[in-house]
Amino acid sequence: MADESGHRITDSPESADVIVVNTCGFIGAAKEESVDTILEMAAFKKSGRCRRLVVTGCLTQRYPEEIAREIPEIDHILGSGEVAKVAAAIRGSEHTVDVAKTPDYLYDHTTPRPASQASFFRYVKIAEGCDRPCGFCIIPKLRGPQRSRPIESIAAEVDALSRQGVVEVNLVAQDLTTYGTDLPFDVDRPSDRPSLANLLRRIGKAPKGGSGADFLRWIRLHYTYPTATTDELLQVMAASPRVVRYIDCPLQHIDDKLLKLMRRGYTGKSVYAMIERARKHLPGVFLRTAFIVGHPGETEEAFQKLCDFVNEAELDHVGVFTYSQEEGTPSAELPELVPAKEAEKRRRELLRIQRKVAKKKRKELLGRSIEVLVEGQSEESEFLLKGRHAGQAPEIDGHVYLTLGESNPDVQLRPGDLISAKVTRGADYDLVAEVESVLQPALQKPQSRKLPVIG
Ligand code: SF4
Repeated sequence: MADESGHRITDSPESADVIVVNTCGFIGAAKEESVDTILEMAAFKKSGRCRRLVVTGCLTQRYPEEIAREIPEIDHILGSGEVAKVAAAIRGSEHTVDVAKTPDYLYDHTTPRPASQASFFRYVKIAEGCDRPCGFCIIPKLRGPQRSRPIESIAAEVDALSRQGVVEVNLVAQDLTTYGTDLPFDVDRPSDRPSLANLLRRIGKAPKGGSGADFLRWIRLHYTYPTATTDELLQVMAASPRVVRYIDCPLQHIDDKLLKLMRRGYTGKSVYAMIERARKHLPGVFLRTAFIVGHPGETEEAFQKLCDFVNEAELDHVGVFTYSQEEGTPSAELPELVPAKEAEKRRRELLRIQRKVAKKKRKELLGRSIEVLVEGQSEESEFLLKGRHAGQAPEIDGHVYLTLGESNPDVQLRPGDLISAKVTRGADYDLVAEVESVLQPALQKPQSRKLPVIG
């Protein structure tokens, strides 16, 4: 099916007339992957039918001239804010570099968005850009200052998705908790002020007297900032039935000296306090975070503090990244570099500690009935279906593998079904659960499949 501009999307680059590569450029590994992908796609100009290669995103925003010079196979280079120009770039015939100094693009609920995920979950971007001064981060330079969408635009998109059968919406922004601070508001009506709490007040419950289908059950937040994860926000989350008890809050470090060097504006003590407040307001909350190891100035002692924290805090999901030195950031000017080999050793050590914590956390779920969103067939076996519970975000937090109980031998499940299942086993990051009942059948039923029993 062709889109509004008359283009048809194909999965196979060898059969594409035009290839568009969307790049990432915020750390070394992402830059390398982006360049490899561009080169791989450029090869289809010789071996496939590709006659035009368009490259867009953060890497081209950061290095437009260098990329144009080094990879002459590229026909059109766009920056991260030139989304509206992609269709024209596809049709064009010139060699062009089109990169605004400060990106200002922001989509709204009227922008056509072909779905790139399964039909039952979506990412909804509520703001673009970032105004924070984190010392290691190049994102504010690549994405520009924060621009928030109005609450009504986000609500219109979310309501439409719910009617279309979307069960889970993942709200995304560089920092969700500063959402709305750049928008005007009526000083006489402070309760209408655009903020994450007010957005959740608007979309966190099913609309009253809403007409038509309403499938949305899970709203998930990526990412919050530790000091801006306020009591008000936590209370609104607790009072919003659609908002899952899941917080994705990158902490980056726990040592005060490191947090200062990173220009994060908080201390280790305030991180402990935030976690305590989150667990008080949202009992059973699932916490995800990310840390950077090997930042300049990270001594063995500071790293040990981080290890102790990971042991004590018992967070549900932890991502660990080695520091990537990015030119143009304050951290890149710092002395006391940590050798790459040492940083990698620390990354592995922190993940080893977290693996033990995760195992313990999974055990706590044994025997409990949980809601599971069925995703479809497992890659492990064509006879096995998998899903996620509310504490598992798409693509990053593991899965729940589903088995049938004796009381339910013939149940048919489909991607997008929301079910109840009882946890019977836990692995490091995954669970096995027995199907109990279907709580909400999926709107779209592309395939039916009888579930097998495993183990
Ligand atoms: S809040 Fe996140 S995106 Fe913004 S500067 Fe800090 S690390 Fe970068």
